[in-house]
Amino acid sequence: MTKALFVLPLIALTGIAPIASPALADAAAPAAPSTTQTVTQSPAVNIVYFLGSDTEPVAGYEKRLSDLLLHLQQFYGKEMERNGYGYRPFGLAMKNPETVDIIVYKAKEPARNYPYQGGYPKALAEINAYFAAHPGMKKSAHTLIIMPTWHDDTYNDVNPGGVPFYGVGKNCFALDYPAFDIQHLGKKTREGRLLTKWFGGLAHELGHGLNLPHNHQTTSDGTRLGTPLMGSGNYTFGTSPTYLTPATCAILDRCEVFSADPSTQYYTGHTPRTGDDISVSVQGETLTVKGTYNSDVNVAAVNLYVQDPPYVVNRDYDAVSFTQKLGKKSGEFSFSIPRRELNGLSSDTFGITLRLISTTGDISSKQLEYSWKELENAAATAGEQ
Ligand code: ZN
Repeated sequence: MTKALFVLPLIALTGIAPIASPALADAAAPAAPSTTQTVTQSPAVNIVYFLGSDTEPVAGYEKRLSDLLLHLQQFYGKEMERNGYGYRPFGLAMKNPETVDIIVYKAKEPARNYPYQGGYPKALAEINAYFAAHPGMKKSAHTLIIMPTWHDDTYNDVNPGGVPFYGVGKNCFALDYPAFDIQHLGKKTREGRLLTKWFGGLAHELGHGLNLPHNHQTTSDGTRLGTPLMGSGNYTFGTSPTYLTPATCAILDRCEVFSADPSTQYYTGHTPRTGDDISVSVQGETLTVKGTYNSDVNVAAVNLYVQDPPYVVNRDYDAVSFTQKLGKKSGEFSFSIPRRELNGLSSDTFGITLRLISTTGDISSKQLEYSWKELENAAATAGEQ
C-alpha cells in the first residue's frame, strides 16, 4: 500500500502579523481583571514605573513590585527548569537582593494623556527618548512599563484601570494599585481575586514582551499541568495550576533576557526561513506536519501551533502548541500529533503556524490553512490505491 502524502494547502495566508508586530497583544481582551531564589544576571528586563506629570507613585510601590517581580522571576525560572532548560529565570537589575532596580520615569504630560486606547505610542516614544539619553539604563531590548491606576468616574484603587495593559513588540504594559501585593496571592478574598487578575495579567503581558505568542494546552498537559500562562493563564495565575508550555520555553530559551551566554548577539535579523515543501497529512487519528528550513545561523527549535480560525492577533488563544529542537542551519522537521491532543478544535478547517527560532532569538512565522475532511479524503484515496 502506497502511503502517499497529500498536501492540500487551501489558503496560503501571508502577511499575517506575528505577535512581535506592532499589533497589540490582548488589546481587545485585556485581563478583565516566600522566599525567593534570587538570580542576578544580565541582560535584565527594563522595569519602568511610568508616572504622569500629575501622578505620584502608589504607596509602597518599590517593595510591592519587587516582591511580585521576584516571585514571577522564580515562576519563569522553575518552568524553564521543568521543561529541561535548567533554572533559567529572566534577568532583573537589582538594587539589593530584595529590591528590584525600578526606573521611575516622570512623563511630560498628565496621566490622562496616556490612556489604554491609543496611549502607548506616546509613552513608548518618551521611554525610548529616555533610554537614548541614558543608554546605561537600558539593560536589554525588553521593557515592562507599569503605570498607577487612574482615579476617575470609572477607575479607582478597587477597580484599577485606564492605563495601557497589553504587549506591543518587546514592550509590555501593566498597572499598579495599593493592594497589588504578593500577600494576597491565592487568597479567596476580593484582594486575592483582584491580584490574580492584575498580577496574572502582568505575568502574561510580560510574556508577550518576551517574544511569546498565545498558545493553548494539549489535552494531556491540560489534565496534568493546568492552564498555560500564555493561554488563559492570566485568569488562573496564583489560584489554580498555571504553567509554561514546551513551545513557550523554546522561545524563552533564545530570548535575550534568559541568556546564559553573554557573548550571544540577539535580534540580529537572521530570521530563519521555512522551505516551500511543507506537507500536512492526516492518517487515521494522527496529524503529520513535515518540512525543511534554512538559516544563516543555527536554528534552535521549531514550534508548531494548530488552531481553529480565525488566525488574527488575540483570536489565537486556542492554538495548541508543540516544539521540536533543531540545532542546525538547515534540515528537516517532522511532527506527528495525535488529534486527541488538539483539545477539541471543532472547525472544518484548521490553521497551522510554524515558528522557527534562531539562536539569535530571531523568529519567523508561517501560517497555512487546511481542511480536515480534504486531508482525510486524500488519505482514504491513497489507501485505496
Ligand atoms: Zn495575550
